[in-house]
Amino acid sequence: MPHPITIDSLKEQLKKTFGFSQFRGEQEAIILNTVQGKNSFVLMPTGAGKSLCYQLPAIVMEGTAIVISPLIALMKNQVDQMLAFGINAQFLNSSLTRAEINRVKAEVISGAVKLLYIAPESLNKQENLNFLKQAKISFVAIDEAHCISEWGHDFRPEYRKIRTIIETIDEKMPIIALTATATPKVQIDIQKTLNLEDATVFKSSFNRKNLYYEIRSKKDIDKQLIRFIKSHNGKAGIIYCLSRKRVEEIAELLHVNSVKALPYHAGLEPQVRMANQEAFLNEEVDVMVATIAFGMGIDKPDVRFVIHYDAPKSLEGYYQETGRAGRDGLDGTCILFYTYDDILKLDKFNKDKAVTEKENAKILLSEMVYYTNLGVCRRKQLLHYFGEHMAENCGFCDNCMHPTPTFKAEEEVSLVLKAVQQTGEQFDAEHIADFLEGKSNSFIASHEQEKLSLFGAGKTVSWIAPEVDEEDDEDEDEDGDEDTPKKPKMRKTPSKPVPIEDEKSPWISFIKQMSIFGLLE
Ligand code: ADP
Ligand code: ZN
Repeated sequence: MPHPITIDSLKEQLKKTFGFSQFRGEQEAIILNTVQGKNSFVLMPTGAGKSLCYQLPAIVMEGTAIVISPLIALMKNQVDQMLAFGINAQFLNSSLTRAEINRVKAEVISGAVKLLYIAPESLNKQENLNFLKQAKISFVAIDEAHCISEWGHDFRPEYRKIRTIIETIDEKMPIIALTATATPKVQIDIQKTLNLEDATVFKSSFNRKNLYYEIRSKKDIDKQLIRFIKSHNGKAGIIYCLSRKRVEEIAELLHVNSVKALPYHAGLEPQVRMANQEAFLNEEVDVMVATIAFGMGIDKPDVRFVIHYDAPKSLEGYYQETGRAGRDGLDGTCILFYTYDDILKLDKFNKDKAVTEKENAKILLSEMVYYTNLGVCRRKQLLHYFGEHMAENCGFCDNCMHPTPTFKAEEEVSLVLKAVQQTGEQFDAEHIADFLEGKSNSFIASHEQEKLSLFGAGKTVSWIAPEVDEEDDEDEDEDGDEDTPKKPKMRKTPSKPVPIEDEKSPWISFIKQMSIFGLLE
């Protein structure tokens, strides 16, 4: 009989192997859940400490834990780290020779390996299935679980087969799925596809309080960039660019401006890529100029800024990338340089995709456009996107620190609410916008909504922001009765309320804001 696993023994192991004296956030509860043989679904932002949630139970439980992970670089990183801690961890993927594969398998069968990292495509192979059936498996961890969802930003079709494969190995093994990027829609999709509806869900807040979010125009970007980096002299930072070519150019630009920077992208020779990454991790250079190929699984705690030279494809990607700043809990600055041209460029990349994929990519992109255009607190918007409501503005983003004029939009708010009611509680912003503008679409026509009294009632609203007398406003707030809730102030026309196609209604942005303020629940 193995010793029962107690909280004390887990804490002891935490100290012994990792050198940490306490668990962070919900780590302890998550680990206990796995140890007790239950399924878990873990949603935590980047840097919160997800890996430990499967590494520690793997160490204390009998047998080998399987860790399914999408990236070879990430596996290697973690295996090296575990080996350095004195824990036997191995990986199985396409980078190994036949002899190496046989060695790993023999070690697993002998019971010596605590963690076995496997790529989903390797898991699919019949020979590996046969081998895993002979091994004693403690549990299965599915890292980057959002890869299973088509709605997510990083869909990998092989992930879809995982659950069936796990069941053929042993249907009673506990499963723990982890992700840093689940919006409510993706979360539901993951649980359904992995058949994890019974799992205990551990969702920690996605708020990264120490990160400052700012969006800047791309005008004179190189000058802005150099100025910013010079003012953060000697600090570590990452600059994300869309193309390999741009990465090279910017690394060169920084170099001639005496900034210690190196490029990183998938087109570089593997040795060069590794060497550049090491140079960044070891502080031989300050700045890594990279495509999004850089960063997953890289744990550098003191990254002080993350700059997006080009607009990202989705808010999930953006959040994950910016999340690499300030892992040590100290301040991190996240700047996104934005121009609508970038969105058009990204949209063009999608033109050859299959219909569903294309539609989905468009939706992700239009969320990005709203984020860059709305005058609402950036953190409020980001958290709203991840299904969290923030009551107050954060005070630590560009929109909070340099607010654009607001106006009291009671009439507009009430018009939207009435329109929502009249059209049958349909919250889709584009639909309500069309309805208020008096523009018919197939849904409106088939439900005969043109006949309703508010069809077209929003046509006459003027979106030119009136002069707001801020002082007057504040007086009123102070004198106001404590019990009457403050009316949210809305922003009129955002600079460019255009989600992908031109000529979209300003009502869409307005309704988005209402949703972020929680007025449409
Ligand atoms: P994630 O996978 O969620 O992005 P990681 O697992 O890479 O995050 O962990 C981020 C950092 O936090 C790592 O440096 C890790 O060693 C550290 N960490 C994790 N758990 C703890 C803990 N209980 N105490 C202190 N540091 C921790
Ligand atoms: Zn804010």
